[in-house]
This record gives sequence, structure tokens and C-alpha cells, in this order.
Amino acid sequence: MSQSVCILGATGSIGQSTLKILLQHPEKYSVFAVTAYSRILELVEICKQYHPQVVVVPSNKVDELRQYFKNQHLNHIEILTDEAGLIAVAEHSDVDVVMAAIVGAAGLLPTLAAVKSGKRVLLANKEALVMSGDIMMQAARDHHTVLLPVDSEHNAIFQCLPEGYLQAERNGQPQKGVAQILLTASGGPFLHYDLDQLKNVTPAQACKHPNWSMGQKISVDSATLMNKGLELIEACHLFAISEQFVTIVVHPQSIIHSMVQYVDGSTLAQMGNPDMCTPIAHALAWPERIQTHVPALDLFVNHRLDFQEPDTVRFPALKLARQAMQSGRLAPTILNAANEVAVAAFLNHAIRFDEISQVVDKTLNHVENGAANSIELILQADLLARSVADQIVMNTGS
Ligand code: NDP
Ligand code: MG
Repeated sequence: MSQSVCILGATGSIGQSTLKILLQHPEKYSVFAVTAYSRILELVEICKQYHPQVVVVPSNKVDELRQYFKNQHLNHIEILTDEAGLIAVAEHSDVDVVMAAIVGAAGLLPTLAAVKSGKRVLLANKEALVMSGDIMMQAARDHHTVLLPVDSEHNAIFQCLPEGYLQAERNGQPQKGVAQILLTASGGPFLHYDLDQLKNVTPAQACKHPNWSMGQKISVDSATLMNKGLELIEACHLFAISEQFVTIVVHPQSIIHSMVQYVDGSTLAQMGNPDMCTPIAHALAWPERIQTHVPALDLFVNHRLDFQEPDTVRFPALKLARQAMQSGRLAPTILNAANEVAVAAFLNHAIRFDEISQVVDKTLNHVENGAANSIELILQADLLARSVADQIVMNTGS
């Protein structure tokens, strides 16, 4: 029977890649709901092609969307609004699969709603897990939710772990003969830049990733290596492993998407061309496999695989994220909120590239790291950290 899919963040890079795969398998999947935030024209194009039953947009976009729907004879599509609308489609009883691909903290409550309703949840929105890791993983266990990682590294790790690993004991120790996880990082566009060069890089340069085509926020995160920091935290939660068992390995070619080392000396790697359609298709079809347009890896063309240690002096974000994971409690939420504010400020030319990590560091020092045992406390800390980070940005202004 065909699976009914809800795509949170359909107009984004992950959303569009997901739609591309669904188009290839119309007998397996139908699109029930799609959501957008600012790209309304793109949403209308998606509606023309995929005929969803429901869309979700911010309330201030409804008039514009209705006008387009009228012109395109799409009036039968139901329009829901704002966070309540996102939550409603995420937990809708007609939905089997939710792709959580909203960027940032805005995706937290809809993603959690999907997890709590026991659907198959494909997790791209890493910020949601960074903020609420323990609560989200507990909700997934309580509701027997199949929570599958879409982030290419975590999807690779999932593929390299022994079967049933996610059901193993969750005590921070690697289980079932696993020794450690090797989380690969491309190193981003500024891998070889020195500290002085890093002061002068522009948003346009930061958004031009050498291997992956992605949304602006994650592109900047990849350039600062905060993306790898968030992924370190993501891996700890998904695979119930303490941070000392996750080693970051810079691998500029992005052919190996991550590895798992075993106690017997084996190292398993998942490899492929860098295209998010592969992990999305894997998570959609797991435990089966479906076809994508991604060409098979040609090892005679990609014949070099290089590896090096990350440099946390030039890329301090990685160190900040590891410390936040060690501190636990609200520290990852504060780190994430400050980073979202700092990245937006950098994209608006309000601060320099190297100041992004400084804003995060200062915010972590200013906001108290309290208990994180409810979503309310997490959302409060997120708001507080944002206002503190805003203030720090204003005082930084280059
Ligand atoms: P994009 O910026 O391309 O897309 C983000 C999506 O979220 C868009 O649909 C956008 O709507 C929507 N959105 C933005 N802000 C809000 C908001 N406040 N409320 C509701 N919806 C909102 O990002 P990506 O697709 O690149 O990334 C999505 C998530 O997936 C991120 O968490 C990222 O870290 C993760 N990820 C992405 C990868 C990639 O290759 N792109 C790889 C691994 C993980 P609109 O466009 O209409 O404004
Ligand atoms: Mg990734």
C-alpha cells in the first residue's frame, strides 16, 4: 500500500530532494502535506506537481497563497497556518511518514509532535534533536517511533551499525562490539584558510560548499564546523553514546560519509557520491532499498581518499559544541540558539565570520546552564539565549 508523506520544510533543499525521490516512486508514496515559510511561489509549483491535500504557511502569507491557488485552480487544497498548522499535519492520522526538514529551532515542536504520534520520522532537522535530545529519544521509545537519521553522516553510521543497535542498552557506552564512531567532515570551503583570511570571508563564499548543495544556514555551519559540532551532539543522542566515543575525521572528498570501528579491528564505512537523495531514499525505504538518480560511485574517478585531524584553533565551534555536550543540560540548546542568531547576523553582514564562534562562546558564558527536563524549560532557554546573543551581536558589530 502507498505511504502518505508529510514534508515539513518542503521548499528547502532537503524538502526538494525528498520530493524528487517521491516523484520517482508514485506507486509507493503520495504527498499528503507540504509546508513553506517564505518561498510561496515554490510552494505553488510543488502543489501543481504533487497535489497535496494540505499546505501550511505563516498566517501573513495566506492571502498571497489564496490568490495563487485561485489562479491555478488549486482552491481545494486546505491551508493551515503557523506552528499549530505544522503540528497538526505532523501528527495527522492520515500521515504515515514525516520528513522533518525545517531548519533550526522552528522545527522542534512539529518534529516532536511527529515523534509522539508514532509515525516513521525522517530526521533532517538536527537542531531539534540538539535542543531536546533526551526528551525526543525518550518520546521515540515511548511511542515505538521509527526515527531514522537523514543527515548523511548519521545515516551512514546507522548503515554501519549492527542490526538492532538502536534497541540496545542506552548507557553512553558503545554496545554490540562497537568501539567508536568516526564522524567525517568535509572541512568546508575554508579548510586551508589561516586565521587572518577567515576574518575576511563573505557570506557568499561561506555558502559555496565544495561538495554539497544546501540551505544557507547549514552551509555557514559547515564553513565554521559548527555543523560538525551539532552533528557530534546529534550522534550522541541517536546512538546513545558519550562524546568521547565520537572522533571527528576531516575527509575533504566527502565520499566516505562516516564509519564505525569495532573491537575486533574492523572499520565499516558507507560510501557514495555526495547527494542527499541517497540518505533520504534509505530512510524512506528502510529496511528495503529504492532506486535514486544518484550515479554509482566510480572509484577509478574518485581514486583518492584523504583524512586529517580537525583544527579547533581555526574552527573553535567544534570545541564549543563538544564542551556543550560534556556539560549537558541546557548547554546544547544555548549553543544552538546563539549559533542561529550569530549565523543570521553574519549573513546580514552585521558580524564577521570569525565572530560567529565568539558570539556563541560569550552566550554560553552568560546564560545559566539549568535543568533541561521539560520542553518548556528548553524553549525558555532558547529564547533567553537568543536575546543574550542578539545583545552580544549588537556590541560586536564590525
Ligand atoms: P533550507 O534553508 O534549504 O530549507 C529550510 C526549510 O524550512 C524551508 O522549507 C523553509 O521555508 C522552512 N523554514 C525556515 N524557517 C522556518 C520557520 N521559522 N518556520 C517554518 N518553516 C521554516 O534548509 P535545508 O533543507 O538545507 O536544511 C533543512 C534541515 O536539514 C536543517 O536542519 C539542516 O541542518 C538539515 N540538513 C540539511 C542538509 C542539506 O544537505 N541541505 C544535510 C543534512 C541535514 P521557505 O524556504 O519557504 O522559507
Ligand atoms: Mg551532515
